[in-house]
Amino acid sequence: MQNSDNIDNIIDRVLFSQDDIEEICQRLGKQLTEDYAGKFPLVIGVLKGAVYFMTDLTRHMNVKMQNDFMDVSSYGDGFESTGKVRLDIDVQADVKGRDVLLVEDIVDTGHTLKFMKDLLIERGAKSVKCCALLNKTERREDDVVVDYYGSKVENEFVVGYGLDYLNAYRNLPYVGVLKPEVIQANLN
Ligand code: 5GP
Repeated sequence: MQNSDNIDNIIDRVLFSQDDIEEICQRLGKQLTEDYAGKFPLVIGVLKGAVYFMTDLTRHMNVKMQNDFMDVSSYGDGFESTGKVRLDIDVQADVKGRDVLLVEDIVDTGHTLKFMKDLLIERGAKSVKCCALLNKTERREDDVVVDYYGSKVENEFVVGYGLDYLNAYRNLPYVGVLKPEVIQANLN
């Protein structure tokens, strides 16, 4: 079926299929199960991009945990990081003394991750680690460690499986690259 409402139409090519993503969640889940055994981590999903990944990943983590969310924003115009990170929704749990695992959709410049790690450490978290679905290492500006990640990606703008373009397309079940004409149309 091809019509203008079919959201697959905006995708140039698929980078990670549903099967690829499931494999990533299984692999990372297994590793995290080993690393957090006996630790009762506080797993914090970063809204809104990490919702799909957080849900699938944690189902593969066989450890007692608590789940929470934070919302931070740094992207002004849809593509470029402003460099300034704003905390929109705070975590509900007290992080003092906790082993925190931040779950991110993608780490790009690293500004968002640095902001969150610094904040949680300042609040007394015992450890703060990050598990991201994707890692855009080429664009890193802050010196932050992405402790676990599904895959590295080139410097291309990706959407789907939580990742948005102008707050749409998060519900695509795979990760793909946007067609250049979609971006062009929005610039005009
Ligand atoms: P950073 O602070 O590391 O530059 O940016 C992290 C945030 O930027 C991610 O959580 C994500 O929301 C957004 N971002 C970075 N690269 C991409 C991308 O290729 N596609 C989408 N949809 N969002 C991105």
